[in-house]
Amino acid sequence: MTEVKIYQILKWGKEQFKVQGIQQVEAQLLLEYTLQMPFSRILAQYQKSVSKEHEERYKRDVEKRLHGVPLQYITREQPFMGEIFYVDESVLIPRPETELLVEAGLIYLQQCIRKNKRNINVLDMCTGSGCILISLIKQFKSESKNIECQWLGVDIQEEALKISRYNEQKILKKEEIQWIQSDLFSKLESNVVEGFDLIVSNPPYIPKEDVEILMPEVKNYEPRVALDGGVDGLFFYRRIIDESRMRLRQNGQLIFEIGHGQMQDIKVMMLEAGFIKIKEIKDMAGLERIISGVKP
Ligand code: GLN
Repeated sequence: MTEVKIYQILKWGKEQFKVQGIQQVEAQLLLEYTLQMPFSRILAQYQKSVSKEHEERYKRDVEKRLHGVPLQYITREQPFMGEIFYVDESVLIPRPETELLVEAGLIYLQQCIRKNKRNINVLDMCTGSGCILISLIKQFKSESKNIECQWLGVDIQEEALKISRYNEQKILKKEEIQWIQSDLFSKLESNVVEGFDLIVSNPPYIPKEDVEILMPEVKNYEPRVALDGGVDGLFFYRRIIDESRMRLRQNGQLIFEIGHGQMQDIKVMMLEAGFIKIKEIKDMAGLERIISGVKP
């Protein structure tokens, strides 16, 4: 039986992906995953043979990818804000645009420090993998000494909270967050936290009908519950805006990630709910992405 060399199996993977229009770099990333080594080390061993077990595992994973499974659900990881988050089919794969939401949240938290706030309460509604909240804590940590912070992550899916808890351990190395399984605010008694200074949320925002026309990778593998934003895509914004004005402290901030084309509608909702200082931020692609407002 002929042995397969590393460079041969990589070439094979790339060819498979090329035919299907999948980026060839994914063949490389999958090989890193199979062999559990960075590409620099793989390169140094280009002429070496691959074990039968590795060969089979690589082929099986390439096959999965060809069937449309997103790479991140095969490797079970996705980088976000400089950290590697664990992901599986129970959570949305963190997107680079969402980093803008974390950055906006961070700016607000730094303002709180400048105003000498001694305790800060933060809520991440629809937390999924926990990427937003965990990144906020990680980034804010060095500045938040001597400040009492309460961090809450809410998701309707218990399965998602298992992942976010796992990511908390993996990245923060300790338990700092209260994870609450709740359909939006329904199980969030006001005695859990008396008021929030910051509410961040990247809720499901794809209009129901459009879910069907998303890329197959997204539509067939990412959780529907994390995508479907109701008939007009605004269902969750309506509910979160409505509740947030009750749950925020004075001068508290609400920050959303939104879908392109939703900015004006959401802005009107926020203004009608009494929010002031509405700010809009576009992403690198020039698309409407973040909206924030302050409770007077
Ligand atoms: N908050 C998570 C994220 O931004 C999950 C969002 C969602 O499930 N809609 O990735």
